[in-house]
Amino acid sequence: MAVTESVRGETSESAGARAAHEGILRRQSARESAARTYARALPIVPVRARGLTIEGADGRRYLDCLSGAGTLALGHNHPVVLEAIRKVLDSGAPLHVLDLATPVKDAFITELFHTLPPGLADHARVQFCGPAGTDAVEAAFKLVRAATGRNGILAFSGAYHGMTAGALEASGGAFDVRVARLPYPQDYRCPFGVGGERGAELAARWTESVLEDPKSGVPHPAGMILEPVQGEGGVIPAPDGWLRRMRQITADRSIPLIADEVQTGVGRTGAFWAVEHSGVTPDVMVLSKAIGGSLPLAVIVYRDELDAWQPGAHAGTFRGNQLAMAAGTATLAYVRQNQLAERAAELGSRMLRRLQALAGEFRCIGDVRGRGLMIGVEVVEPEAESTPGARPRTAGLAAPAGRAVAAQDQDRHPRPAAPELAAAIQRECLRRGLIVELGGRHSSVVRLLPPLTISDEQANAVLDRLADAVDAVSRDYAAHDGSYQPHQGHQYRGDRTDRTDGTGRAGRADWAM
Ligand code: PMP
Repeated sequence: MAVTESVRGETSESAGARAAHEGILRRQSARESAARTYARALPIVPVRARGLTIEGADGRRYLDCLSGAGTLALGHNHPVVLEAIRKVLDSGAPLHVLDLATPVKDAFITELFHTLPPGLADHARVQFCGPAGTDAVEAAFKLVRAATGRNGILAFSGAYHGMTAGALEASGGAFDVRVARLPYPQDYRCPFGVGGERGAELAARWTESVLEDPKSGVPHPAGMILEPVQGEGGVIPAPDGWLRRMRQITADRSIPLIADEVQTGVGRTGAFWAVEHSGVTPDVMVLSKAIGGSLPLAVIVYRDELDAWQPGAHAGTFRGNQLAMAAGTATLAYVRQNQLAERAAELGSRMLRRLQALAGEFRCIGDVRGRGLMIGVEVVEPEAESTPGARPRTAGLAAPAGRAVAAQDQDRHPRPAAPELAAAIQRECLRRGLIVELGGRHSSVVRLLPPLTISDEQANAVLDRLADAVDAVSRDYAAHDGSYQPHQGHQYRGDRTDRTDGTGRAGRADWAM
């Protein structure tokens, strides 16, 4: 096909690609549900991907720090994952087998058990679930209810466990009589206004008193579910000491402890499983996302003594996805053999340090936190008064090993969350070829979940683009007297001429694994 140059310097080929891209987006918004999520903030049409990089139908490339909501431990289309999938396809093995035994599944279980925290590995059972994290959460609740004969579940403020009824009940936004809500410790917006070790201690005492007080209104529960680092809740790492207290409190009262490692697992936080930071062995672990090596897979693993439920107690048609198990085996083995958890810890600390420096520069960054390559930047109102009664920030207070606390807010109180500024930063990132996610109670936390295979060079490129985006939004905010008003050039969709700044076009290095 002859490629002609238009007056704007655009070739007929790229004009065609742009039209196809825009047509797909237009049809999506006309045909897909109002409940669609990521697609609203990220109007891109991925057609190719490798490692950290996604290429859109319009030819633009992006550094992907969303990673399928934390699913892609090895990034997109890692060679070991592709090879594992091809091997199954070429072998003629059945792709769909319900929960029957197969060599592929056998190998997956062997590798999974190999990675489990000591203390669980030797006495573990695994239940394959419908292939979503939320179904595994449901399975965990059923399991502990069957094992204890009790009904109630303890869960935490800010939690996210999924979208099916039971998982939703246990998530932060819900009200339900079967779930009792307890405070999750956090430094920046500590519910007790003190943060640090003291805040975590008070949170633990509250939990203890709820269980001790016969008139607390909370009957003896069937289990407690927690995320070792709250992801959707705003990237809030639980202090190791608090997690150990939760283990002690539940063990003393024969309450099974369920660790939801759907997002934190497979090296993400700098340990293979995030509970390992504290040395805690949960009774049940809920696993999904990265364990399927980018394909859908979800399981619970649990202490065999809990295995008291009936055959068929948790069924489901799609529990035998052979391709996902093969991709998952390859991913688990690669992360283990290449010490990618250690790499996540080391690179994550460096990225946090750079982001903390950025927080010193920009008043709209209230807090920087995370663990390993699960990183959050909380965006706040630059000019607002600090929240009365909130504790002054004290650098490093009670920061557990491997976890950083922002130093920039030392003498300030937390300011109100700024979801609009956070959304503006997300848009500006996208314009610069960087995909980030928003999370947190008020959707004001910019989240980075890069693949564990990200190189130093790529990590620098991510942080450069993010810094540039924060700078652009801060300038706009200042120029418009305290409100962010994107000028025409900031409207990403369909505005290709505006993208000739070159920042959105990734270099060849971006394709490196
Ligand atoms: N638990 C946690 C901690 C999660 O982060 C998520 C998804 N973000 C889920 C459960 C639910 O997983 P899924 O979306 O696969 O149902």
